[in-house]
Amino acid sequence: MESTSDQSISESSSGFLSDQPSCTKPSVIVIGAGIAGLAAARALQGASFKVTLLESRDRVGGRILTDYSFGFPVDMGASWLHGASKDNPLASLIARLGLPLYRTSGDDSVLYDHDLESYALFDMEGLQICQHLVAKVGEVFEALLEETKKVREEFAEDMSVMKAFSIVMERRPELRQEGLAHKVLQWYLCRLEGWFAADADNISVQSWDEEELLEGGHGLMVRGYAPVVTSLAEGLDIRLSHRVRKVVRRRHHGVRVITEDAKIFDADAAVIAAPLGVLKANLIKFEPRLPDWKEQAIADLAVGNENKIALFFETVFWPNVEFLGVVAPTSYSCSYFLNLHKATGHPVLVYMPAGRLANDIEHLSDEAAASFAVLQLKRILPNATEPTKARWAAILTMQLENPMIYMSVFALLLKPFSLQERLHVTIFQAQFMALLLLGFWQLQNAASNS
Ligand SMILES: Cc1cc2nc3c(=O)[nH]c(=O)nc-3n(C[C@H](O)[C@H](O)[C@H](O)COP(=O)(O)OP(=O)(O)OC[C@H]3O[C@@H](n4cnc5c(N)ncnc54)[C@H](O)[C@@H]3O)c2cc1C
Repeated sequence: MESTSDQSISESSSGFLSDQPSCTKPSVIVIGAGIAGLAAARALQGASFKVTLLESRDRVGGRILTDYSFGFPVDMGASWLHGASKDNPLASLIARLGLPLYRTSGDDSVLYDHDLESYALFDMEGLQICQHLVAKVGEVFEALLEETKKVREEFAEDMSVMKAFSIVMERRPELRQEGLAHKVLQWYLCRLEGWFAADADNISVQSWDEEELLEGGHGLMVRGYAPVVTSLAEGLDIRLSHRVRKVVRRRHHGVRVITEDAKIFDADAAVIAAPLGVLKANLIKFEPRLPDWKEQAIADLAVGNENKIALFFETVFWPNVEFLGVVAPTSYSCSYFLNLHKATGHPVLVYMPAGRLANDIEHLSDEAAASFAVLQLKRILPNATEPTKARWAAILTMQLENPMIYMSVFALLLKPFSLQERLHVTIFQAQFMALLLLGFWQLQNAASNS
């Protein structure tokens, strides 16, 4: 079924489907066994397609990775279900698997997948910020965001949220914050940056709020996402350690997919569920090239970066809140820790840097990255003990030439306008369901050529 020869030698090899139309099941190759590829492959197999899934790593799940090295599950990639309602296909699967969700907030907030009350914010001298100030600055932040909508109506050209903020503050100086309130405002910005996995000077003011979230609020996967991935993968023909390098449209019919080590797979169609970063870096070549409009969309749409550093402690010394926030004079120096103890009972804090900070941390060794997270913790909780174990989400990055691209979370940055429409996906779909960029490129091309 699988040829290990390169394309020229493969004239004599059969591939897994013949060049001639056949009366057997239509076949599809799905590239990438992240949640999008797994979901696409399952749907296609359920619709009687013959499906083969090619995955470059030696495991499935992609940016979903549940780590068990602490002796219990800790999600180092995705860990929330955003939109825990019946409209979310994952919600029914999660319920069927009997997996508990820990609700971190209702559905009325795009910015925070956690209720504000679940946070304890501290400055770098270990002073806890009073909730009254946090709430008050939160209102200012919302007012600022509201004002940026006016700015975007005035300017034809897109600009960053950061730039729009500075215009608003020029016009409405009473919204400027000083001292501790300024630091809290920076922390709000840091949360916004965390949501988009990008810095505010990269987030589009035209598009930051285009996202449509499903109803049902946000739930943390208490036992990790691994069972979901395992269940989706069950019964599929998955070829691990098969890194695709080329997708070629065959002359008469179908598509040929060639891996890094020159294995050849032929099928009627291919679905590309590799990350946007991989497509942006041209790590998969298409013959013929993708249509201009699609290449343009891939180029214009940006990706952001988010990391996780999980710290395991002997005892819990932190307050019983869902999140510990670090406030600082710039959003870059602000950060936050997810308290897994609250949701799971395990003494673990997960440091979650995003944007430029995440990029910078990725350049550190694993030990230095963990030490950096501990340093932040000690700044806000001077009595913090040393963690006994640490785990860094770099395990997600290792196998690609450009780890930063790979780690990325899909984000709407500058230039996007109606990019989702061009890619025919909503952000939510892109985050979790499918990035079917090639989609039925092969079929469309075949149709337009016939
Ligand atoms: C730290 C972090 C936290 C996150 N938290 C959340 C969260 O709480 N909730 C949420 O909804 N989302 C979250 N996300 C985003 C979410 O993880 C991703 O949107 C989602 O997992 C993407 O799935 P995917 O299948 O599209 O891509 P991926 O998971 O990236 O899967 C793509 C697959 O393609 C494979 N691949 C790449 N190149 C090739 C090739 N050439 N040939 C063959 N295979 C290839 C990869 O190895 C990978 O397995 C988070 C992301 C990160 C990094």
